[in-house]
Amino acid sequence: MRESPQIQTVAPDVARIRRRLLAWYDAHGRALPWRTPVGRADPYRVWLSEVMLQQTTVAAAIPYYEAFVARWPTVRDLAEADLDAVLHAWQGLGYYARAHNLHAAARIVVRDHEGRFPDNAESLRSLPGVGEYTAAAVAAIAFSRTEAVVDSNVVRVLGRLLAADEPLDVADARIRALARELAPSRRPGDHAQAMMDLGATVCAPRAPICGVCPLSGDCAAFPTGRPESFPRRPPKALRPRRQGVVFWTLGGDGRVLLRKRPLTGLLAGLMEFPSTDWREKPWGIIEARAQAPAKAAWRLIEGTVRHSFTHFDLDLAVLSGRVDAETSLGCCSQWRWCALERLGDHALPTVMRKVARHALGHDPSAVGLGQVS
Ligand code: SF4
Repeated sequence: MRESPQIQTVAPDVARIRRRLLAWYDAHGRALPWRTPVGRADPYRVWLSEVMLQQTTVAAAIPYYEAFVARWPTVRDLAEADLDAVLHAWQGLGYYARAHNLHAAARIVVRDHEGRFPDNAESLRSLPGVGEYTAAAVAAIAFSRTEAVVDSNVVRVLGRLLAADEPLDVADARIRALARELAPSRRPGDHAQAMMDLGATVCAPRAPICGVCPLSGDCAAFPTGRPESFPRRPPKALRPRRQGVVFWTLGGDGRVLLRKRPLTGLLAGLMEFPSTDWREKPWGIIEARAQAPAKAAWRLIEGTVRHSFTHFDLDLAVLSGRVDAETSLGCCSQWRWCALERLGDHALPTVMRKVARHALGHDPSAVGLGQVS
């Protein structure tokens, strides 16, 4: 069996890493719509992009970012917007708590800070949805503060520079200490973005392109011949699978029934088609019908709608039924009848848009689904 080369444990040359990283960034950094020359960054746009990039890829975030700044070009515009409009614009980006926090934080910036973002990480952290990473990123990029900005890309790059072989929760302290050591006083925002870009484009999770990496001479993982194995990844947690039954409820006039979800919890404040609870135990049809919004001749639509949330996978069966407009609906929900061609006007989460496509795909009289795609 071939032995792996020994891991070198030389202390990183901080000045050389900074210099090489910035030189690489100046030549190869990504051109992204929220990036501006040093000293001209708009804190609102930096913050908006960083919130969108939590849990979302750059490619997926760009069209949302551009739509948001076109519609709400300043933090004051966003603060004055209706929450429903913000949730609707966020539709499809997922993790809707971010949209709630975005709106709440904009209002706080306007109400408590005269429309100006706090200019340091500690004060930024007082805003809803702004954690350690986002605060450090906004402080470094928008206000040139010397901050260690550590996202998953940076953990990977630094974990490899150190050839961190211990479990990631143990290696974390070493990685963060190196991030703090590396954070420069000159161009701290560019340094942070350079580290992110290197992780995203060169030091990729499974196949790092070490041959073009400006830090290969400083990287302890590179000479091992297996850089992709650093830092050691924690085992993947198993996600539970939940089941639910959705009621595709058509009125006599062809409109479909929606309801608003509670303002807290999963998919807070978004619209949905009525459904049973989502639980791990499968639903029997009779048991599910007891949670229907009204009495109807419910018919099972063939097939299953599948969706993955962060912490669980979901399988939804869909029952279709027609009810009279006069039918009294179950209490305690904010019901809304909606013409099928107006579904796109509502903040429907991706899972509910899948339900609509599924139901309409089985309805020969269905209208096109362009509005909810
Ligand atoms: Fe990542 Fe390879 Fe560069 Fe090391 S040399 S930082 S493993 S890309």
